[in-house]
Amino acid sequence: MSNVTVCVRFRPLSSKEKRDLGDNICIQSMDSETFIVKDEKEEGFTFSFDKVFYEESKQADVYEFLVLPIVRDTVNSINGTIITYGQTGAGKTYSMEGPNILESDEKKKGILPRVVDGLFACIKTSADSTKYTVKLSMVEIYMEKVRDLFDLSKDNIQIKESKTQGIVLSGATEISLSDTAEALQSLSTEMNMASSRSHCVYMFTLNQESISEKRVKSGKLILVDLAGSEKVEKTGAEGRVLEEAKTINKSLSALGNVINALTCGSPAKSNHIPYRDSKLTRMLQDALGGNSRTALLCCCSPSPSNASESLSTLRFGARAKHIKTSPLVKVSEEKCSKKNGDASGTKDESFEKILEKMSERLNDEDIKLLEELFIQAGLFADPDSEEDLESAIQDVVQQTISSLMKAVEELRSTVEMLQREKNAMKERIAVAERCDALPGENADFLQKIFGFLSSFIPGM
Ligand code: ADP
Ligand code: MG
Repeated sequence: MSNVTVCVRFRPLSSKEKRDLGDNICIQSMDSETFIVKDEKEEGFTFSFDKVFYEESKQADVYEFLVLPIVRDTVNSINGTIITYGQTGAGKTYSMEGPNILESDEKKKGILPRVVDGLFACIKTSADSTKYTVKLSMVEIYMEKVRDLFDLSKDNIQIKESKTQGIVLSGATEISLSDTAEALQSLSTEMNMASSRSHCVYMFTLNQESISEKRVKSGKLILVDLAGSEKVEKTGAEGRVLEEAKTINKSLSALGNVINALTCGSPAKSNHIPYRDSKLTRMLQDALGGNSRTALLCCCSPSPSNASESLSTLRFGARAKHIKTSPLVKVSEEKCSKKNGDASGTKDESFEKILEKMSERLNDEDIKLLEELFIQAGLFADPDSEEDLESAIQDVVQQTISSLMKAVEELRSTVEMLQREKNAMKERIAVAERCDALPGENADFLQKIFGFLSSFIPGM
């Protein structure tokens, strides 16, 4: 178990902040992990994180500390997620992308172009017997809808869960990349579409096919540039912009709720984690729920004019710090040989094959119901392989069996209770009959004693 890595980055003061309040800042640095923030009333709050990047920090510092270990993990097939959080203008996109994705100044390059460089650099140094493929999907979550940035006509991408691949974006365009230049070109064309009022998600999938061992390992690296976390009332928004702001706040507070549920102390298994409350939390289910190496960069302005928003960002980061994760390597043995040999096995075909098999035994309505159940339960996540479908079916069958067993258990205890009541009733009738046979006063006396005793002894 390791914790989520949480770092804070303070950007330099903006020219507006300098104009309004000169060089005043509300941060007092203690060391590279700890600092004090003063609120409007000059009250000081101390925070400690894995690392603090102050105003003079470099893009390379952030990459090396926060991102590079996760890129290396991805190459070793451990999923990774890097999230930037903070109010609008705090430096999320600057940190994630840099001033521009095709930025030629090496020093100014953000996380994204460095990740692309890093992935291809790792691949170059690896063994010849391994065949790598890098795929990229880009989506934005806007007004609770997931839109494919490579194909804008796909504006309602479904997020599903697969047993073998974890959370997947069903039907989202995946482009295969063969080198850094090509990757950056693809990113830059589509990036302009993304708005700062949406959550922008870049998903890299790295597959490693070991020719000799006949197995495929796969690692996923997700970069998330979140929409601004500022409070709605502060923005003075109206109409559509207000609606947008409310939706952003809803998904970010859903993210906060998931983090609370994950860290509130009760054992994770018995605790309901509300991942399904928003598209964002559903998409980050692996990242937060433990199956990923996760890093959070909290971006803040150092200006006293933004102290309350910075405090709220830092409190969010402090809570996220308590999340525990234990990512696993996922290997699909023999998968490559199977895939190569069965080129006709597309998603829909295997999906239909299973339903076809079942339809031989069940009627149409049952099949429809099952299909709906699978989709609702998120089990028909990625119908990529027959194994996925079969395990999804097993899950539903298992759930049905356990609810039936529960119902049988309840029925059994009800029958037992009725049996006990019946026996008690029989006893009473027998006593009453015996009492009837006795002369008047004795019978009344015995009835009273029986009534008195039965109030103490249940079932009498
Ligand atoms: P956000 O994405 O959080 O809304 P941006 O990344 O767009 O904010 O940053 C707002 C402005 O601040 C941009 O003009 C950006 O270039 C500048 N900026 C942010 N962080 C830094 C930094 N570390 N160094 C220099 N300029 C920065
Ligand atoms: Mg931005």
